[in-house]
Parts: sequence; structure tokens; C-alpha cells
Amino acid sequence: MGVQIEWGTKLERMREISTGVLIETTSSSSSSSSSTEPSRCIADYLVGCDGAHSTVRHLCNLDFPGESFGGHWFLIAHGKLKHFGEEDIWNKDLPIFINEMGVCMVVPFHDETYEIVVDVPLERGKKLGNSMKSPTPEQFEEIMHERIPSKYKLYDTIWTSGFTVHSRQATSYQSGNRVFMCGDACHIHSPVGGQGMNYGMQDAFNLAWKLAAVLSSRALPTLLSSYDQERRRAGQDLVHRTEIQTKGMMNSGAIQNNETLKAAMTTALQAAQKYGLMDMISKGAIAPFLSQVSVSYNKSPLRAEHWELEPPVLNLTRMLHRRQVGLTKFFRARPAMGSRAPNIIVKKSSTPTYIHSLFASGGRFTALLFHPRKGWKDQMRWHGGQDTNLESVAWELEVLSEGLVKCVIIEEDEEEAQEVYGVWGQCLYLIRPDGYLAFRSQPINLRAISAFLSHRIGLNGVRQIMPNEWEEGVNPIEVVEQRVMRLSFLVSFWW
Ligand SMILES: Cc1cc2nc3c(=O)[nH]c(=O)nc-3n(C[C@H](O)[C@H](O)[C@H](O)COP(=O)(O)OP(=O)(O)OC[C@H]3O[C@@H](n4cnc5c(N)ncnc54)[C@H](O)[C@@H]3O)c2cc1C
Repeated sequence: MGVQIEWGTKLERMREISTGVLIETTSSSSSSSSSTEPSRCIADYLVGCDGAHSTVRHLCNLDFPGESFGGHWFLIAHGKLKHFGEEDIWNKDLPIFINEMGVCMVVPFHDETYEIVVDVPLERGKKLGNSMKSPTPEQFEEIMHERIPSKYKLYDTIWTSGFTVHSRQATSYQSGNRVFMCGDACHIHSPVGGQGMNYGMQDAFNLAWKLAAVLSSRALPTLLSSYDQERRRAGQDLVHRTEIQTKGMMNSGAIQNNETLKAAMTTALQAAQKYGLMDMISKGAIAPFLSQVSVSYNKSPLRAEHWELEPPVLNLTRMLHRRQVGLTKFFRARPAMGSRAPNIIVKKSSTPTYIHSLFASGGRFTALLFHPRKGWKDQMRWHGGQDTNLESVAWELEVLSEGLVKCVIIEEDEEEAQEVYGVWGQCLYLIRPDGYLAFRSQPINLRAISAFLSHRIGLNGVRQIMPNEWEEGVNPIEVVEQRVMRLSFLVSFWW
């Protein structure tokens, strides 16, 4: 990636100054354990990805509030398992075992090894004493056999470890104008759900394109403040949900002990399974959360919509037409701005391909220019049914954005794309370099797009067709409400 990594280099001190961030580091060579003389440099920006005990966070005096699940340990072992009991646990779809003693989860790896996680409540942990941080395979087996219905031997153990969990989030992911934090440096939580590393990578993904745009003078430094706004909100949700999962796991023994609670839970789960609710919940909520595709920056300033409504003229034919088409069409579902661009297959050039693979690389934006659905071309100007030549719009947009936007035209017969993106009339979706939806324009209005790119995103060099003409995204529902109130005597025709 053209970056030189300086291994064994430790950040000792840092301070933001007017020209950048003054940094002091020490290096330890592999041949000696002692550190070298401190060296100093001035960096444009500093991003602390230095883990839960982050030096950057401490040096910036940022609080890290939250809670520790004191006394409750989790042990983890990675190795091979030999089965010598009656019942084979691999007949289970998901090998998680819960009883009054606690939880045991067995995760199979592709190389026939397994990662086994058990929780150890406070009282049980006291018996293990100091060996908690690094339990022996025998101790591990003993705990495992308290929870699973069969006997297994743990052998060829690669490693074992024990840890307590904390649930904390930094009060800000940014300090001053030039210091940022990503990953465990700004949020930690229990490993339940396996989210931590991926969230950290998403932090970096969110910050990287913004930093690249600012460092290459393509964008104003104000763009960087959206990093904290977007990722801290996403992190809050993660920490909160993981906390609930962890507490549920830690208290699962108590549920097993209480017959009434256990019976109620079993009945609820069986009913959910019977009526297909489990499938709905896992596909609709759990899978999107665990895969992190449901993360949405729906409160971010980097999102807006532009709609144009026709003037309220008294035109009987149009009014009757509205009645026929139905105002409800206007409220058809569409992905929210700030959410991840849906990744569906398009038939582009007769080769089915994922729409994400058509997105621009190298920190550029992508504009999806949608043709209207079949039969919608001239139906209604509200829905962008205007007849615009998308080839020339694409050319104009690439010119006015100085090449910062790559245009992709989605043809009339791409029905799945139209359905998923909620497209009826001709419209445009602008997608950020990190794959999130930033802007929707219906009909396609180049002035609105150029104003959004320069005023909201803060991109330099976008040619202004008419500067400052478009400032705020128009909320179509508000506009409709105002229109309905003003023209209340026409309401009966509308519906
Ligand atoms: C048991 C367990 C299981 C997990 N399972 C999963 C999982 O399945 N999926 C998942 O997504 N996440 C999982 N996680 C979480 C994941 O491991 C962490 O979220 C992730 O490693 C954090 O990465 P990071 O780069 O932010 O911090 P770290 O991995 O802690 O890296 C920080 C780095 O900064 C360096 N550093 C520290 N101070 C300084 C300094 N002053 N100067 C220079 N360098 C410094 C450290 O040496 C270290 O290399 C799990 C965690 C645990 C404990």
C-alpha cells in the first residue's frame, strides 16, 4: 500500500500544534530490549489505533466511561477435540451449551481445530485462583464437561487464555482538529458476537477516505468532524447491544435454575421456531447486526435528499391523474440516506455483477443514475418521470465534479435494482467512497448535486453551476404536508 511500517516504535508523547501534531517516539531494536533515544516528528494527523489501554486516549485526557463485569471471567482454548462419549455434539446446528453451571460454546475451524469459550462465574473462579489467566487443558476440560452432554479430550492445545470483560466507550473519537482514535482505543466490549475487530476496521474505513480527501486538498478539513459523529453513534449501539448479550449469557445459569422462567423461555422459543419468527429475527435483525451491514449514519450531516415538486397549478387532467396514480406511490420505501448501499446483482453488459463492484475506487464517489421503471417515463414529474438523457447527465456530472464522481447508469430493465433502491422515476443516488448512501436526487438535478458535494461534503473544486442555490435537503413529507394544507380544498381529488 506504499506505507512503511515502523515496527517496535512506541508513542511516548504528543501535542497538537498549529502546523500538525508533534510526536515523540522511542524504538526498541530486536537485538536489545532497551529503547533508543526518543525521536520527534511533526505529522499532519495522528490516528491512535493503540488498543484498549490507548496512550493517545490518555494523552488527550479523554474519558472512557462504562462498566466492568467484575469477577466474571471468560476462558478460551484453541486446539483439537477427541470425542469419547455417547452423544456427539456435532449433531447440533449451533454448538452452544447452557446449563446451571454456565455456558460453553464450541466454534469449529477449517483445519479441524476448535475454539472453545466458557464463562466462569465469580464463585467458580475463586476455586481456580491464579490459573484463570492461563488455564491448563485439564482445567479447561473439567469446566467444559460440566456443561456439555458428552466427553471430549482437548489435545494439541495451541493456546489457552482467560479474560474479564469491560464495556466502555470514549467520550469522543477526536481530540482537537488533528487527533483521532479507531478500534479498541475508543470502544471495548465483550467478545460475544465477535464484533470488536470488525468495528475497529469500519472506524478506519470511515476515517480513511475523509483523511485522504483532506490530505490531497480535495476536501476541507471540516469533513473530518463527521468521523466522530458517525462512528461514535454506531459504537454506542454496538456497546449497548453487546452488553445486553453478555449479561444474558452471564445470567443464563440463573434462568436454567428457575423452572418457571426456563419453561416460559422454552415455550417462547418453540413458538417462535414454529411460526418462522426465529428465521425472521435471525435474517432480519441478528444477521445484519452481526455482519454490521445494518450500521447506518442516518443522523450524519453528510446525507440529504433533493426532491422537486411541481407547482400547485389547477389542472384537472393532472389532478385526476394524481388520484389514479395515488399519492401513496410517493411514500414508497427507499433505502435511507446514511445507510449502506444495498449490494444487489445487476445485469450490466449482460454479465451479472454485484453493484458494489461497479463503485469507484481511490476515494471517489459513485453516482448511480437510474432510468425510470418501465411505463413510468412520462407518468409523473413528481417521480422524476422527466426525459433526461442520462449519458449526457453522467458526462456533465463527471466534468463538474472534476472527476471525483464516477457515474454508473442503471438501465430500465434492472428490476431488482429498482425495487431494492425504491426507484420509480428517473433518479440519482450518490454513494460515498466507503459505500454509504449520501444523496438522492429526484429528478436528477445537477445544481443540487454540485451544491451537496461542495457545501455538505466540503469537496474543493466542484464546479458550481449556481453557487448556494441549494443549501438544505428538502424533506418531501414536510413539503407535501405544507402543500396539502395550502391546497386543502383539493385533498379529496388527491386521494
Ligand atoms: C477472546 C477474544 C475474542 C475476540 N473475538 C473477536 C472476533 O471473533 N471478531 C472480532 O471482530 N473481534 C474479536 N475480538 C476483539 C478484537 O480482538 C479487538 O477488537 C481487536 O483486536 C482490536 O484491534 P485494535 O487494533 O483496535 O487494538 P489491538 O489489537 O489491541 O492493537 C493495538 C496495538 O497498538 C499497540 N500499541 C499500544 N500502545 C502503543 C504505543 N504507545 N505506541 C505504539 N503502539 C502501541 C499495541 O502493541 C498493539 O499492537 C475478540 C477479543 C477477545 C479478547
